[in-house]
Amino acid sequence: MIYKRSSELFAAAKKVIPGGVNSPVRAFSAVGGEPIFIKEARGAYIYDEDGNKYIDYINSWGPLILGHAFEPVVNAVVEKAKKGTSFGTPTELETTIAELAVSMVPNIDKIRMVNSGTEATMSAVRLARGFKNRDKIIKFAGCYHGHSDSFLIQAGSGAVTFGTPNSPGVTKGTAKDTLLATYNDLENVEELLEANKGEVACIILEPVAGNMGCIPPKKGFLEGLRQLCDEHDVLLIFDEVMTGFRLAKGGAQEAYGVDADIVCFGKVIGGGLPVGAFAARNEIMDYLAPTGPVYQAGTLSGNPLAMAAGLAMLQELNKDAEIYNRLEEKTAYLHKGIGNVLNRNKVVHTINRKGSMISVHFGEEPIIDFASAARSAGNGKFKKFFHGLLDHGVYIAPSAFETWFITDALSYEDLDATIEAVHQVSKEL
Ligand code: PLP
Repeated sequence: MIYKRSSELFAAAKKVIPGGVNSPVRAFSAVGGEPIFIKEARGAYIYDEDGNKYIDYINSWGPLILGHAFEPVVNAVVEKAKKGTSFGTPTELETTIAELAVSMVPNIDKIRMVNSGTEATMSAVRLARGFKNRDKIIKFAGCYHGHSDSFLIQAGSGAVTFGTPNSPGVTKGTAKDTLLATYNDLENVEELLEANKGEVACIILEPVAGNMGCIPPKKGFLEGLRQLCDEHDVLLIFDEVMTGFRLAKGGAQEAYGVDADIVCFGKVIGGGLPVGAFAARNEIMDYLAPTGPVYQAGTLSGNPLAMAAGLAMLQELNKDAEIYNRLEEKTAYLHKGIGNVLNRNKVVHTINRKGSMISVHFGEEPIIDFASAARSAGNGKFKKFFHGLLDHGVYIAPSAFETWFITDALSYEDLDATIEAVHQVSKEL
């Protein structure tokens, strides 16, 4: 592959954009080399500025569950744009998408639209703190909830210690209210709750982690968290920015049969436009302004183009009952095929999967939390794997800590081509 034009565009971008990108992982820092500049995309494929074509497994980091430039979404946006791009007043469309979302997802009566997943989780935590009148929150190492201050916290030295900020600019004052737990470790959560009795407002987690590779919850983990939250009168927040409308119509709550108190959305709910949302039962949501005391707002929240895209996406997912089965079957096929060729080429690996989220790790140990994910990422194989696949026209996320997103646009020929690319690359690993 020739990446000449991408390289020129990256050089130009670096002069006027920090690091040449508007979101750090796009810069390829974790895998080396230079980022590829994309010109256009359709269905399962993206095309770069040098004319190279790739089978895409990033899919804008999750939103495009039906593939790129999905016609009903594109048409809805185009038609809406002709009638005005933003009003800053209520519109009927906002109620229509809210009604549909509330009908698809368990346990929610009301939903508030925002502009990103970060805004959704940030606002959900403020709401939980206000509702419970408590300051502390529990999050899990390796779970990503966007880039607001409370969430940019690294592991402290012991299970019951306070977190320390992992970005300059996050104050110690903020960090001390974020308690860190180990994913899939209920005992650790219980210790934190006991040590901070009456002070914790909420536990927030990705019900299937997708930001340290894909790490599904161990059997009983989500149920155990629900029970601990009930015992300690703490709200359970599912960050379903990745899993919402992806694992099932009702997201992880439906897939695992566990109820959350507040649910955060992003990605799929916006159909590829900038949308996030958070939702809960009436009692909690009515605590938000203007009905309640917890403030939250947005100039472009509920933007008509974003709502049109999101509505078209949700309508499609709601009407096609088979889509989640198809996604499951395609992902299982890919899982089996990749596993077979890696075995054949004697590459030690672990593959994690839940629904249409899948990740390949190079190492033998089970990947169950951030520490195990970091150990497997540390052996350097992923970089070779990533660049090898890219050269064979398969584009996965440029970091070992990411998930592959399977879309309904992928054909079995695409999956076979991907498995063949893995075969070729794994000979060199
Ligand atoms: N929560 C989860 C689980 C995510 O994966 C992400 C982004 O990848 C976010 C929150 C933040 O969303 P955004 O990037 O839209 O702010």
